[in-house]
Amino acid sequence: MLSNKIQDALNEQINAEFWSAYLYLSMGMHFEAEGRPGIANWFKIQFQEEQAHAQIFINYINQRGGRVVLKAIDEVPVTWDSPLDAFKATLAHEQKVTAMINAIYALTEQENDYATRDRLGWFVNEQVEEEDNARQLIDKFAMIGDNGMGLYMLDQELAGRVYNAPAALNE
Ligand code: MG
Repeated sequence: MLSNKIQDALNEQINAEFWSAYLYLSMGMHFEAEGRPGIANWFKIQFQEEQAHAQIFINYINQRGGRVVLKAIDEVPVTWDSPLDAFKATLAHEQKVTAMINAIYALTEQENDYATRDRLGWFVNEQVEEEDNARQLIDKFAMIGDNGMGLYMLDQELAGRVYNAPAALNE
């Protein structure tokens, strides 16, 4: 049985993952409108990944006989100055998510909830990847600056990103 504290924290995290999904969909729609289909693609896949993160927590709460409570999703920004600006915002956001995951991890240890701690281990690793992905793209966009050909080629590269459902979704 999940403690109330853990259940509340997991429900907050579900809301944060859906907010992330909404943020990245908004970024995707911004770059779609800007004529950057590859960058839009990258963010639309990020949107799918975040929905999967929420779903993993939803599945987990249900597996533990808990109660999923869906809350209102706050408004998200709608424009960014440049791709570099959007990826900097992505990194800053993922760092916040990492802090949230770490806080729940610490809570599971206080509550002696080792099953939830183990489930969160997947997210701890996932956050390393999320931050690394954003950082690498910040470096690339910073390197090319306003170079039109560079931006075109990087957009083409990001058009190749495909969605792979995380294995944790089926556990
Ligand atoms: Mg996430």
